[in-house]
Amino acid sequence: MPSEFDIIRQYFMLENSRDDVSVGIGDDAAVLSVPAGYQLVQSMDTLVAGVHFPLETSAGDIAYKSLAVNLSDMAAMGATPAWFTLAITLPDDDSEWLQSFSKSLAALAQKYNLQLVGGDTTHGPLCISICINGFIPTGTALLRKNANVKDKVYVSGTIGDAALALVAWQGQYLLRNDTTYYLNKKLNRPEPQVELGLLLRDYASACIDISDGLAADLGHILQESKLGATIYFEKIPLSNEFKLNVIDDNLAIPLVLSGGDDYQLCFTVRAEKQSVFEKIVNEKNIKVECIGEIESVKGLRCLLDNVEIDIHEAGYQHFSSD
Ligand code: ADP
Ligand code: MG
Repeated sequence: MPSEFDIIRQYFMLENSRDDVSVGIGDDAAVLSVPAGYQLVQSMDTLVAGVHFPLETSAGDIAYKSLAVNLSDMAAMGATPAWFTLAITLPDDDSEWLQSFSKSLAALAQKYNLQLVGGDTTHGPLCISICINGFIPTGTALLRKNANVKDKVYVSGTIGDAALALVAWQGQYLLRNDTTYYLNKKLNRPEPQVELGLLLRDYASACIDISDGLAADLGHILQESKLGATIYFEKIPLSNEFKLNVIDDNLAIPLVLSGGDDYQLCFTVRAEKQSVFEKIVNEKNIKVECIGEIESVKGLRCLLDNVEIDIHEAGYQHFSSD
């Protein structure tokens, strides 16, 4: 059986690229430099096997998602990702599993010039905990609490795909064969919206990433900003693959409003910045959609054909995700 340090050396000493890492893996702690004029932004997310992903999920998908959900938190703050640490609890020393995990983790880290600078390796039921660090120019972090009345509410990408893939995986829904690959990819390999997050530093008043469902996560912005909003269900962007599978609004509503795991951004933009913002995202080919507006009356209202949907009713009773 390889020692803990053999595992670290073989699978977690990934290629190093950053010159702001004075000491990385191998000492008692990492030594890192934050550039002058910037603040450190830090976040942590844990994924437990059987709770946050099905037990049979591939090692590559687990590694990808563990890091992607953390990158998504950086995106939601408007931060540039820089370093991360990895606490991993492993049930055994399966070298094939570790090899795939390490390869997938390294590929996503490299894509974002993100360096693994330390961690902890223990034995027990599979659990992956990542702490990520990034930078923002001092005072520019995108917070949940800064939405204003009349701001436009936006979402990026498409909503509901991951939730649909999850209920299909759970056997509650049969997908069309030609959409399975696309939808499973949305669940297992969500694309963190880092580029959009950086752009939003200049345009958004408030921002959050959608991990628990659009209604719940937009609800956090509203609660923190002490405001309300009306959104229009027809305006929420859905993928063709979603629409091909889900024809009935009664199924679409809970998946879109309450299904989690999309890791798109939900954010607000001041009305006077709207046209410039839309021009820039178009030029950059980033997909965003305005779905409603912030109001002074507290609470979230969602209209479909001008009739208010009972969001609570549409919610967690049907499809809950952890
Ligand atoms: P210590 O006993 O001082 O905590 P460890 O043996 O746990 O040291 O770790 C040795 C080095 O390996 C440290 O630099 C630690 O940050 C790093 N490390 C341990 N596990 C991981 C991991 N899963 N990924 C990345 N680095 C790790
Ligand atoms: Mg240790």
